[in-house]
Amino acid sequence: MKWYEDKMYWVMCEKAEEIQKKFDFLSNMDYRDSYVCKKHKCLIRLSDHYYCPEINGNVCIYPKNLTWLPTQEELQEMIDWKQLYSFEIIPEIGGNKFLGRIWDSEGERVYDVWCNSINQLWLAFVMYLNYHKVWSSQSGGRWIKEEKCQNYLTEVKKKSSKKL
Ligand SMILES: [Zn+2]
Repeated sequence: MKWYEDKMYWVMCEKAEEIQKKFDFLSNMDYRDSYVCKKHKCLIRLSDHYYCPEINGNVCIYPKNLTWLPTQEELQEMIDWKQLYSFEIIPEIGGNKFLGRIWDSEGERVYDVWCNSINQLWLAFVMYLNYHKVWSSQSGGRWIKEEKCQNYLTEVKKKSSKKL
């Protein structure tokens, strides 16, 4: 399965309002972009077509009707690398999952997340580091505030300001 065909990723992106808001559709739209038509739940890859395959027309191609599916690179660009002391990505042996793990400067493990794809994983890292949210699959899936994360980030800030 291609990363942009992952329906779980579609939902995680749609629910990540902070990420969706970041995207300036009119100035940033690129022929390589991938979107999901919210109404028809179908994939729109601008490199393939500029219309919604469901209705075979372009009335769905408006920012409010689309969920933007960021690429791995685009997600990585959103990360403030100063906040990320150390991380690792461990593929599950013989499986299709990945464990994403974030460590603090003391070598403490602060965040573990299992994902079905690398895109999901980078999205989870961005949501954790930038917006202090973790994915909960309850009630259709949503991003929820994680208090622990806030503490970690405060600690990181303190430590990095000490260094200066
Ligand atoms: Zn549509």
